[in-house]
Amino acid sequence: MCTTRRFTLAALALSISSFNAAAATPNDTAPLGKLPRWALPLAYQLDFRVDPRQSEYSGSATIDLELKQAADHLWLHGQDLSVVKVTLTDSKNQAHAVQYKVAAQKEGVATVEFGQTLPAGRYRMVLEYSAPFNQQLEGVYKVSSQGAPYVITQMEAISARYAFPGFDEPSFKTPFTLSLTVPENQVAVANTRQVAEQKLEQGWRKLSFAATKPLPTYLVAFAVGPWDVVDGPQIPATQWRAQTTPLRGIAPHGEGERIKPALAQTPAIITALEDYFGFGYPFDKVDLLAAPDFAAGAMENPGLVTFRDYLMLLDANSPANNVRGSFNVTAHELAHQWFGDTVTMPWWDDIWLNEAFATWMQAKITQQLHPEYRADLELINGANYAMQSDSLVSVRKIRQPITGNGDIETAFDGITYQKGAAVLNMFERYLGADTFRQGVRSYIKQHQFANATADDLVSALAKASGKDQRFSKAMQSFLDQAGVPLVETTLSMENGKAVLHLKQQRYLPLGSAGDAKRLWGIPVCVRYSVAGGDAKTQCELLDQAQGKMVLPGATASSWYMPNADAAGYYRFDMARADLARLTGSLTQLPDTEQLAYADAINAGFGRGDLDAAAVLAAAPQLAQSATREVATALIPTLKWLEKHEVRSDAQRERLTALARKMYLPRLQQLGYQRRAGESQDDALLRAALAQFLALDIKLPEVRKALLAQGDKALEKNADGKLDLAAANPDLLRTALSVATQEQGTPAVDVLIKALSNTSEPAQRMAILSGLGAATASANAQRARNLALDPLVKVGEMSTLLRASREDGEGREALWKWFTLNHEQLIKRSGETSGGRLPDLVAGDSCSQSEADRMNSFFQPLLKQLPGAERGLAQTREKTLLCTALREKQDPAALLH
Ligand SMILES: [Zn+2]
Repeated sequence: MCTTRRFTLAALALSISSFNAAAATPNDTAPLGKLPRWALPLAYQLDFRVDPRQSEYSGSATIDLELKQAADHLWLHGQDLSVVKVTLTDSKNQAHAVQYKVAAQKEGVATVEFGQTLPAGRYRMVLEYSAPFNQQLEGVYKVSSQGAPYVITQMEAISARYAFPGFDEPSFKTPFTLSLTVPENQVAVANTRQVAEQKLEQGWRKLSFAATKPLPTYLVAFAVGPWDVVDGPQIPATQWRAQTTPLRGIAPHGEGERIKPALAQTPAIITALEDYFGFGYPFDKVDLLAAPDFAAGAMENPGLVTFRDYLMLLDANSPANNVRGSFNVTAHELAHQWFGDTVTMPWWDDIWLNEAFATWMQAKITQQLHPEYRADLELINGANYAMQSDSLVSVRKIRQPITGNGDIETAFDGITYQKGAAVLNMFERYLGADTFRQGVRSYIKQHQFANATADDLVSALAKASGKDQRFSKAMQSFLDQAGVPLVETTLSMENGKAVLHLKQQRYLPLGSAGDAKRLWGIPVCVRYSVAGGDAKTQCELLDQAQGKMVLPGATASSWYMPNADAAGYYRFDMARADLARLTGSLTQLPDTEQLAYADAINAGFGRGDLDAAAVLAAAPQLAQSATREVATALIPTLKWLEKHEVRSDAQRERLTALARKMYLPRLQQLGYQRRAGESQDDALLRAALAQFLALDIKLPEVRKALLAQGDKALEKNADGKLDLAAANPDLLRTALSVATQEQGTPAVDVLIKALSNTSEPAQRMAILSGLGAATASANAQRARNLALDPLVKVGEMSTLLRASREDGEGREALWKWFTLNHEQLIKRSGETSGGRLPDLVAGDSCSQSEADRMNSFFQPLLKQLPGAERGLAQTREKTLLCTALREKQDPAALLH
């Protein structure tokens, strides 16, 4: 043996490797957006040690990874983690001493420095760390229910970095294998089935779970606490899935019974989804979890779907709204098991592939299983709501480029969900439902357990339909461009034929600074009457500024609906004579088209083409509809008039008289109590009318009836708790709001006290709405202060604050309160909710001075609050548009 020679060779090898490294090792800076591709995770083993009674937890993340090139460091994510030990072992089992360092604190970017250059190849990295339970409902967080602590997770969008160090970006899909070491008396669940249990020393046990299918970090989930675990009906095998799938409900202790109704409806939803996708449910179990505090409505973690508790804990006393919401949201989250979980977008600019699809699919499944829920109308209402935001200059595109973490947080908006769903609906109609489904099926099959982009979807649809570039371009014109198209239509007779002339531009409200010149590829479908009373439909892809369509069989006296079935994502503006003929035939139109008509009235009013008199003239005919959605379609505009336009007693009397005439007989007919066997829709209509008439229009007779219910609800039972069940559960919110306004301090006192001994989520929401509605200034102030009090959960703060700005005085007081308490508010709710903050505290503003003050107050905070820049721009723009519209109003129009 010759040591000298060996030494020389080794030294030589080292110098060669350093030389190579100098050329090849990446010389880069901390990536604040996407991570570089030269270090790729292959699999994770995550071991957590969690005791909900403590204030922090510990973990160990073992990450198998591949270096695609020689490197002396790698980048990853980790936020608020105390990493105590990190090792890197190469494929020859040689360990290298490496170091974990925070690289960008605010963005949660970290680096592992190798101290030397390591060659390309496979490595195993183990990071041991501890972390506090998050206080803002992100990552691994702690909540309490009836005094007992629970731990749950919420990783989407970019909060997995709080839970474990890793490559927190959706393009990196790998298997995750979890273990949870918990105190013996605690229940623990994760994405997959438990495969082993090991008793440990001192009252701990370690539960191990099966490896997941390849998942992005944002879908990893677990929960620890004294949960009730309830078996639901098994989901039987289908032609798409060979084995039975177990279904369970996970509820806070003592609440297990109440999760059963949600479980009962789940197998049918899964089966319907499988039939659509032609692809079996791909995960090994379904757990639905009712979370005692939650930032969103629900989260589609594969195998462990988490929901805000009010959507899961139901009984005969639950508000009809929650019962229906439970079904809708379950359908939405389960649709994500395919859209998002099986096929995932590579980056957040394509989050619409998850959310638009789940929203659209939720409507399809609901329509199939519960046609009486009228999901078709909900989809249209969603589109009409999105069109309001989409007319702002500051609005996002469906596929908005991501320039920072703020853009990721603000991507979860009405454009992504409701506009996205409406655009899918429009192109489904254009291609035909069967062809569209064929495209979706091949998209899922081709990209299963991997990533796919918008282009992948568009090309799958193009292939299935045999359509060319014109179709792809049309679809992209809605995805990559903001705004709502406005289609102007005029019918004329030319050489004995009825010709419909079409023109397109961007819909812009009065006072907008936007440019109307914009082109889409719009599938325009028109329904029109022909001789003999029949109706026909004609469709055309309008992808030029102007076009025309011959309507065979139409005559000069035909009516036409420019958006057949309201399936198109566009607004329309008809020649006056044409509109008059349509108005005359309104009741012959299907409900879908009556909603499109209502939107045309709203759009015309927003643009300044129609005045308040025109809105009031159109309202009664719609209000007569037997269909709830149509009957209430103009209520938001009537509320706007009440809030921003009514300035004199005479105006108020006119609006009140109209609202009374249109809606009071209907409410009286429904009565204030539930009736045995009544439809869910009757319960929802009763709640909507009672709220509008009691809180907005303030009809004394309605307030009196609700106050009687509120008074009863505020009486104490023998156990010292309020008798909240004495009120109709659908009216409890409104009844408590009337009670705090009429009774003042005594009602506010008992409601604040009730917060500490009421855990039922729907009742808590009603109490918070009631407190928020308090009008006397001292009481209103006490209510607002509760937003900073632990009595109110973090996820409940916005319900309280939003309710407190219903009138001008409340808006003013909320703003003042916010300017004094913003630091505490931000600290409690978390900086990542900053995008929603301007709307929360200054929404519904309607003057130049409010726009100015919100601007000057928020400007210095923008750097600190990711997403607040867009939130501010939109709230400010809405305020200015509202101001312009208000100034344009002729006071006399309300008196006609
Ligand atoms: Zn979703």
